[in-house]
Amino acid sequence: MTSQKILIVGGGLSGSLLAILMAKRGFEVELFERRPDMRKENISAGKSINLALSDRGLRALKAVGLEEYILQEVVPMFGRQVHLKDGTTNFQPYSLRQGKYINSVSRGGLNKALLSKAEEYSNVKVYFDMRCVKMDYQRNEVHFHNEKTGESFVASGNTVIGTDGSASAIRDSMQHGGVRRFDFAQYYLEHGYKELMIPAGENGNFEIEKNALHIWPRHDFMLIGLANADGSFTCTLFMSYNGEQGFDNLNSKEKVENFFKSEFPDAMKLMPTCIEDFMNNPTGALPTVKCFPWHVEGKSLLIGDAAHAIVPFYGQGMNCSFEDCLVLEKFVDKYDTDWEKIYSEYSLVRKPSTDAIADLAHENYLEMRSSTANPVFTIKRKLEAEMELKYPDFNSKYSMVSFSPEIPYHIAKARGEWQDNILMEICSKINSIDEVNYEEIYQRLMKWDEQDSKF
Ligand SMILES: Cc1cc2nc3c(=O)[nH]c(=O)nc-3n(C[C@H](O)[C@H](O)[C@H](O)COP(=O)(O)OP(=O)(O)OC[C@H]3O[C@@H](n4cnc5c(N)ncnc54)[C@H](O)[C@@H]3O)c2cc1C
Repeated sequence: MTSQKILIVGGGLSGSLLAILMAKRGFEVELFERRPDMRKENISAGKSINLALSDRGLRALKAVGLEEYILQEVVPMFGRQVHLKDGTTNFQPYSLRQGKYINSVSRGGLNKALLSKAEEYSNVKVYFDMRCVKMDYQRNEVHFHNEKTGESFVASGNTVIGTDGSASAIRDSMQHGGVRRFDFAQYYLEHGYKELMIPAGENGNFEIEKNALHIWPRHDFMLIGLANADGSFTCTLFMSYNGEQGFDNLNSKEKVENFFKSEFPDAMKLMPTCIEDFMNNPTGALPTVKCFPWHVEGKSLLIGDAAHAIVPFYGQGMNCSFEDCLVLEKFVDKYDTDWEKIYSEYSLVRKPSTDAIADLAHENYLEMRSSTANPVFTIKRKLEAEMELKYPDFNSKYSMVSFSPEIPYHIAKARGEWQDNILMEICSKINSIDEVNYEEIYQRLMKWDEQDSKF
């Protein structure tokens, strides 16, 4: 046990995971969450209902003893099931290697499991309904507003970690007084998202392939669907706000019905409430946040979406935020309670990675909504999958990002983009992967090591 107290602001995914990791090291942890306790009150977990959990996230859950439990709750997704406009479908595996797949997990279920695990430690106190208003860097105090009682509350500790999401109050305080020259950029994608639902069939049957991430790519917009354990699918429509086929224009039941009939007739048959859901459900915005520095001396640090919110198209925001917590732990190992050293080295190591996954996530939107329907891209994915089977040291960009936590995101991006250019060039000249010379391609792709120094 150490006598040091860590305040964690935000009891979402990364905050509750971090509370466990720090409690295991003997710190006294106080976790403050704006919302009520989701295990007692029926509240939405916010944002998406389910998430794609992959190896970086699983590694973090393993570190807190939750991997096995969570793996029983998830629905594995072995690849993308692409639904083209003519009604045909094709399956694009994420990898042909054993055990390389991603998982659809309930955000609420995962958050509840993490909170319950955190509360198993006697050195963790969790406060709900506590909205952080600001951090006062002169006094080293964090100010809260109790959403239930309306009362104010002030807390202090040896250090403060802001895990309060993309609209972080801790970040706001850093920007407005905590840090003298704070770099901050927020970009909204011109597209937003809306959640829809495919209900379970009779007896809880899955109406479409259970073990796939479904995509209806339509170039300018797309619909995706991830299975829930109860047989339903949570679908998300990503689409521009503007234009004829845009959220702002689809403002009557008639327009929405015509839109679904023309663009997603097959999915529409499975979504009996899609028009009502479209009209009633909110349209979510998709910001990317980049900022720096992430810390104020040893007083406070930002982690997860608070430091680097990204668009969801690589399914990595949560995975990356979980990985943040593991990387931070390494520096706690190294520097004990020298928070300033911990935070500054953590930030320098982590920033290139989080910038890279932000950019990859952005680029992957085009891949999902358009390239998945492109025949050259389809051949390329087949070729990559075969290459992974034949050569254990070859990993596609997708595999490096999703299944290779030992490869930092910025290396996965640099190497993956370099590989993609070569593979797309090869695939643009062939009609089938039977035509390729695997050994020649492998030798070409392995040259990256020599080029490594260029990046
Ligand atoms: C549509 C969509 C789909 C996504 N899909 C995926 C996916 O498939 N895979 C993936 O890995 N990631 C996905 N993400 C990203 C993922 O949701 C985030 O990256 C992840 O939730 C970040 O975790 P966090 O703990 O940093 O923030 P959050 O999960 O947002 O948690 C922040 C917490 O802080 C609380 N809070 C906020 N403000 C305050 C305050 N002032 N005081 C106190 N508490 C506060 C909030 O209530 C919340 O509990 C998706 C995101 C979206 C929007």
